[in-house]
Amino acid sequence: MQTATGVTVIEHGQLVDGTGSTAIRDAALVIENGLITFVGPAAAMPVVPPNATRIDAHGGTIMPGLIEAHFHATYFDVEALEDLDIKYPVEYVTLLAGCNAKLALECGYTSARSGGSLFNVDVWLKKAIETDMIPGPRLAASGREICGVGGLMDWNPDYRKIGMDGLVLLVNGADEARAAVRKLVKDGIEWVKTYPTGDAASPDVNDHHTLCMTFEEMHAVVATAHNHGLKVTGHCRAMEGIKNALRAGYDTLEHGTFIDDEALEMILARDVPVIPALYFELASIERGPEFGLSQRVIDGHQETLDGGTESARRILKAGGRIGLGGDYGFGWNPHGQYARELTFFHKHVGFTPLEVLKCATQTGAEILGRAHELGTLAIGKLADVLVVDGDVVADIAILEDRSRFIAVMQGGIVKAGRLARA
Ligand SMILES: [Zn+2]
Repeated sequence: MQTATGVTVIEHGQLVDGTGSTAIRDAALVIENGLITFVGPAAAMPVVPPNATRIDAHGGTIMPGLIEAHFHATYFDVEALEDLDIKYPVEYVTLLAGCNAKLALECGYTSARSGGSLFNVDVWLKKAIETDMIPGPRLAASGREICGVGGLMDWNPDYRKIGMDGLVLLVNGADEARAAVRKLVKDGIEWVKTYPTGDAASPDVNDHHTLCMTFEEMHAVVATAHNHGLKVTGHCRAMEGIKNALRAGYDTLEHGTFIDDEALEMILARDVPVIPALYFELASIERGPEFGLSQRVIDGHQETLDGGTESARRILKAGGRIGLGGDYGFGWNPHGQYARELTFFHKHVGFTPLEVLKCATQTGAEILGRAHELGTLAIGKLADVLVVDGDVVADIAILEDRSRFIAVMQGGIVKAGRLARA
């Protein structure tokens, strides 16, 4: 991805650096050739060349680009789970994914970690973004998701002989789990997404207290993935699935819904980031009836929301790491509303705005394995920066409104926001 040339100064706004530190009033940020070279009070800013580009952030906030830690570029706002796998061919899904990537960048998300992809779209979407063919977040790519036969994602009945060609690799036993990871290694992915547990979406046989993979399968996934330098995550709701994932050596936990003291200790012992994706649950409860979700499913989402909220609070309070990403890409939780997750974590889960912003920037970069170059505003890092019209610390919901972005920058280049349109 190209970076800017020359010098840019962003000045007069408050600056939130993404570490959780208090905002700096009347701050300045200096960018040289795409990298941050000064961050601090405007009064202490070094002399810059007279031809430097100047961006006035007066009355606004200068902050790191947001990081979506559970992004599905290929989920195209489906109205039923089944549509994910069989509605469209790879050609059309790829185009939809490109549109979703562009939208995410316009929403202030300069990086994203995929939580699973149809076909092998992510790997090539990443290439298109990295070569500036299309705009989008810097992407950590996943591939097809791994689930046990008969588990949550194995919804097509055998008599229809449809299989799960697009979205999922179904496995029976450790050998098949290893084979699935080896296929993903060849595909060129970075993150292996698995399904250790069920979900409220499938109340009959794979609800949120059931397991969809054995420990042996999960351990085989991790051993094979780590051998090839890939990372592993999983959809973890049921407590035993969470513990299996932690014992197997997972790198992150998606959801981490139901935890007890032992699970919390295990999360903290290895400092494993958890990405709760909680707004999805609220959206499923509030908008589910419009999309035909049954009362049983909605009740399950309520239990998940309550459990997940309590777990996220406990993990943060105990010093654990929470990443923010929202499973956007369902009809009731569509692409473009990513920052609702941030508002939700402040208003309903009780995180302070600065804690929320840290989770959505610094922790996101740690999950990506790129904390040395992304995630906070610090000297030497890539200038992935948002300039927002308004005080984001006083009202974090401002980030939900794309029209409030003055600039969305990657590597010092303005890619979206008012200045991009001007
Ligand atoms: Zn997901």
